Amino acid sequence: MFLPFFLYAEIHHKYKLIPNFLYQKEPEIFMDFPRRVNPDVKKVPFVINIKDANKFPIVLKNITIKILNPGKKIQKTLFEGREKINTRLYQNIFYFKKSNNLEGEFPIVIEIHYYINKKEKIVTNHNYKKGPKSLWYIRFSKDHLPAEKNWYPGDIHFHTSYSEDDVEFGQSPKFSKELGLASGIYFLGLTDHSYDLDDKDGKYYEKDPDLKKWKKFKRDVSRINSKSVNFVLLPGEEVSTGNSKNKNVHALLFGHDKFIPGTGDSTDQPFKNKPDSKLEKFASSIPLSIAAHPFEGYSFLPALFLRRGKWQNEDFEHVDGIQFYNGLKNQGYFKGKEKWIELLLKGKKIFTYAGTDAHGDFNRAFKVKIPFLKLVESTKQIAGRVKTYVYSSKKPNKKLLIKGLKNGNVFISDGPFINIYYKSINDNKYIIGKSINTNKPGKLVVKTKSSGEFGKLKQLRIYKGNLKEKKEEILLNKNINSFENREIINYNCNGERVYIRAEVLTLKNKEALTNPLFFNY
Ligand SMILES: [Zn+2]
Ligand SMILES: [Zn+2]
Repeated sequence: MFLPFFLYAEIHHKYKLIPNFLYQKEPEIFMDFPRRVNPDVKKVPFVINIKDANKFPIVLKNITIKILNPGKKIQKTLFEGREKINTRLYQNIFYFKKSNNLEGEFPIVIEIHYYINKKEKIVTNHNYKKGPKSLWYIRFSKDHLPAEKNWYPGDIHFHTSYSEDDVEFGQSPKFSKELGLASGIYFLGLTDHSYDLDDKDGKYYEKDPDLKKWKKFKRDVSRINSKSVNFVLLPGEEVSTGNSKNKNVHALLFGHDKFIPGTGDSTDQPFKNKPDSKLEKFASSIPLSIAAHPFEGYSFLPALFLRRGKWQNEDFEHVDGIQFYNGLKNQGYFKGKEKWIELLLKGKKIFTYAGTDAHGDFNRAFKVKIPFLKLVESTKQIAGRVKTYVYSSKKPNKKLLIKGLKNGNVFISDGPFINIYYKSINDNKYIIGKSINTNKPGKLVVKTKSSGEFGKLKQLRIYKGNLKEKKEEILLNKNINSFENREIINYNCNGERVYIRAEVLTLKNKEALTNPLFFNY
């Protein structure tokens, strides 16, 4: 809500006495579409978002895309007509039929032609006057995401139009699915804010004791899932809850039916910021719970006004995992990764998951950087850029995905594929996240893959967590210079309690890391 989150930016909020320099007498109008398009996609989805047209009605006349392909410019009209738009949130989807040989990365311009107060206007991509005017891109990928059979990529932290307040809103679950599918992922973890899911529809300052919005959210998602073949929406919640120091922290919850309230760090009620739930009271009863960006969001202002806190060691006792990769490789990522390893070395089975915290935002994210003053954009926290890959022996539904996530059969990646498994002396195979009780020799197998999009594989590291010495040792450090690699290592843990995990890096600085295999836990 305050600073660290990228989102569809809302610019109409005004407080008395504070001038809002972002304010304009128009609805917010902008396009969204996949940043990368999977090779098998024939119809590429483009979504137009128009917000607050109930206050500033427009007539939409035309939407045209121009793909600046140096070989041959492509121009296509997505919409033509005279559509009166006067609703609070208008989102509509159009499809561009792609020719089979269209491959590569191109700048793209989308002209939106409309009338407001009888004046005719044409804007490109968006109408944020104070917004950046950088070039937008689309990549028609030649290759699928690097993966092997039975691995399903998704974004575990994503906001839809059910998140809405002063400065942000998101994409409808229905169109999120379309955009996600075209970009090559299999699932989206819908983690809308607890302080938004309990609102009255469209009135984010009013709580609804009947939780109609939460119920509608669940129904909406079930309906979409029942019609989907190659995509799953995982309905969840990003709850603002009290940690062991009674400060607000965020947790991602999945698979539960009973809404967990959390308004502590919302701005719904100014100067009321005490947590209204406690992590330790409910987390263990939730099918899947994850610490969300545990070292972000508590900088000075949010800490002061929103009573935001850090995740403490005892807080991690109550969750299955930790999402330190929140779209950015920033301080929060490195601190979070360090904490994850520290907890693993203490003998705790805690898994890592990755997401982007995108609010819609499949191509880029606008962010109100300084309230009332400055808009910036991000091409990092865009949906599906950072992925959680889940293993499933058959095409997973919601239940199987949650099971795989809960069991830690997961690696995270912003590009390459990695898989590590153990083969025992009697040929039993143990996948990522599994425990193995043995004192006999066996084999570790590590498979890695990349593509031109993410760069050749550069370096593979296998780590052994030495619980006695409380440090990680490098079992293998190997330079690679190819798109595919397979390592087989004889390994005997000699009955000791250790964990093994692997990481791979590409020449384009893309990275994948696995959850551990646990020996003698
Ligand atoms: Zn959060
Ligand atoms: Zn979030």
